[in-house]
Amino acid sequence: MSGNQNRLQAITQITNRASKLLDKPEPLSKIWAEDVFNLQKMEEALSKNAFKAIKKTVQTGSALDSATADVVAAAMKDWALTKGVKFYSHIFYPMTNITAEKHDGFIITNSDGGAITEFTGSLLIKGEPDGSSFPNGSLRMTNAARGYTAWDPTSPAYIMHTANGSTLMIPSVFMSWTGEALDKKIPLLRSISAMNEAGQKVLKLMGETDIAPLNSSCGAEQEYFLVDENFANARPDLLLAGRTLFGAAPAKGQQFDDHYFGAIPERVQVFMQDFENKLYKLGIPAKTHHNEVAPGQFEIAPYYEAANVAADHQQLLMTVMKSTAKEHGFLCLLHEKPFAGINGSGKHVNWSVGNSTQGNLLDPGQTPHDNLNFLLFCGAVIRGVHKYGSLLRAVIATASNDHRLGANEAPPAILSVYLGEQLEGLFNDIKNGKLLTCADAGFMDSGLSQILHFERDPGDRNRTSPFAFTGNRFEFRAVGSSQSVSGPLVAMNTMLADSLNWISDKLEVALTTSEDQSVAVISVLKELMELHGNVIFGGDGYSEEWHKLAVEERGLQNIPTTADALPAFREESVVNLFESTGVFSPVELESRYEVYAEQYLLSIEVEAKLTVDMATTTIYPAAISYLSQLGVTSSTMSGLGIDLDTSLASTIAVEANAMMSVVAKLNEAIAADEFADVEAHMHFCVDVILPLMDQTRVHGDALETLVADELWPLPKYQEMLFIK
Ligand code: ADP
Ligand code: MG
Repeated sequence: MSGNQNRLQAITQITNRASKLLDKPEPLSKIWAEDVFNLQKMEEALSKNAFKAIKKTVQTGSALDSATADVVAAAMKDWALTKGVKFYSHIFYPMTNITAEKHDGFIITNSDGGAITEFTGSLLIKGEPDGSSFPNGSLRMTNAARGYTAWDPTSPAYIMHTANGSTLMIPSVFMSWTGEALDKKIPLLRSISAMNEAGQKVLKLMGETDIAPLNSSCGAEQEYFLVDENFANARPDLLLAGRTLFGAAPAKGQQFDDHYFGAIPERVQVFMQDFENKLYKLGIPAKTHHNEVAPGQFEIAPYYEAANVAADHQQLLMTVMKSTAKEHGFLCLLHEKPFAGINGSGKHVNWSVGNSTQGNLLDPGQTPHDNLNFLLFCGAVIRGVHKYGSLLRAVIATASNDHRLGANEAPPAILSVYLGEQLEGLFNDIKNGKLLTCADAGFMDSGLSQILHFERDPGDRNRTSPFAFTGNRFEFRAVGSSQSVSGPLVAMNTMLADSLNWISDKLEVALTTSEDQSVAVISVLKELMELHGNVIFGGDGYSEEWHKLAVEERGLQNIPTTADALPAFREESVVNLFESTGVFSPVELESRYEVYAEQYLLSIEVEAKLTVDMATTTIYPAAISYLSQLGVTSSTMSGLGIDLDTSLASTIAVEANAMMSVVAKLNEAIAADEFADVEAHMHFCVDVILPLMDQTRVHGDALETLVADELWPLPKYQEMLFIK
């Protein structure tokens, strides 16, 4: 079937599509976490003592003894076997944004040739995939390849089903034989513990005596596009690059604002319900879903959870979303900018820190005393974003997110903090020395007491800020939709740890010299604001003025591309940050830089080659075949004495030739391979390859508007975005 028939057939098929109906939906109480080996199931299966031990590990991260691990393994296996499971897999998260798994059977044979099952504590605890087969930034070679996966008891095991079988999945870390982190979970766990340690110090100085371990929480809002699979199958760019490399703008885009929060198309709603049922079985608390701004764009937000579990659940959510979409005849696109000129997708990472004794430390709360803790933790975030803005930018730097950041619908590539008017006013008062006096007993004067009445939801929202306070948490809005949340969480937890360390050093001194605690706290915050207050910005982050003001007057960095952003991993302050907090050794950090840079180069290479390929083998032939049709018609008409206007044919010829001459240059650029280092190579992509891809596209898109519709092989924007 030739390309254009594919497209025309897709349109016919889609107009006749019916929704894929589910078996009778079951009540939440029945399906909730039914495939998860959570604390409740452990309590049923384990002895009192074993349960107590594992519960302590789950809730506080304390070490588990090997005898208990054995008992847990046996119980886990028994539970899984009753659910038809034959295989288990350590599931882990390599340095790319993917999820990896290695499956093993429970089966062993006995001497009579019979099959029995076995699963010991040591099998549960340790697996052994090859460390060199995953991106490792030179940490592992094929001749020194050993890598280990190790069970993370703080994230519950669960079962994944396919039509033909079920597998027990065991969340794990992944490290090299020499102990370096090769994954995204180890640094996340380390960052939580660094943050906990630093937070404990501050809370102790604040006079708290009962302090439970601090953890961070994360609730991630995930945006995505759905495209009918018939269209997707006719678009190699969507299938291989996750975004359209060609495509003329549709007559109708999102200018009518008629999609956002609009009625969800039935077929999509049916997909969402199926998807959410699956999430519930896996213990993922799907909470909100709605249409997003662009046509064909949607959002799902689960309820927030402890960061480590939330990160695992986020990965699982993306996997289940893609596979369920497929069952419903959709391709689910997590790319940050699948359609040029149409809003892109992000993942808003909502983040807070707290514990069971002091509660959420980013909640302004009801009493002045809590407010002091809140002010310190909030101040710590402000300092962190200012001091480590380049790091926050680096952890959201990918080839795909570059298309979204700084475009007119997504946060700019300048990291600033939005606090809301009330809180911004309060911190400015502190900075300007307006809050230096305190009433008796450590209670604040009227200035500070305004925070007593602080609304949990300070009404207004600033959608243009990359990092916004939203009542009881910060929302990192610049994270890409296809990304793992772990990188951003590691950066936030670690910068917070560093700031809390700074605060506790200052506070310790201030407490010895000030007459009371609140005066000491305010003096530390005043210094913090003088050094870092510049990062607070409540205005329009999309505006030109801000871009100028931020850089010229505030001294903030505008870091537009991944090529500019990734070198932050090599900045001295960032290397020191991670080393001093124990989150990454310099070697580990360098390996991340190498892996992320390599990922960037590979993505651009795939897209560039695909651009050449589609221009040469799909778009050019469509243009030429239309030209030859026009030629034949024109000469037939001449024979009849009718002269047709040939300007359309000429324009097509000009565009087609121009496209192919850019393609020749692009081909040459792809072949270039002499670069001083990866940084130079990344800049070559930004300066040469991407502009050549854009130029190719300009001609290709012009041809789309010139060539007869029935000959055009690629599904068009209006079809992919509007036909459901
Ligand atoms: P909005 O679109 O208004 O930003 P959503 O309801 O779509 O809000 O998503 C907000 C996300 O923030 C949810 O995942 C929610 O569970 C999460 N969240 C709420 N409170 C906290 C908190 N204290 N810490 C972390 N995440 C939170
Ligand atoms: Mg939202």
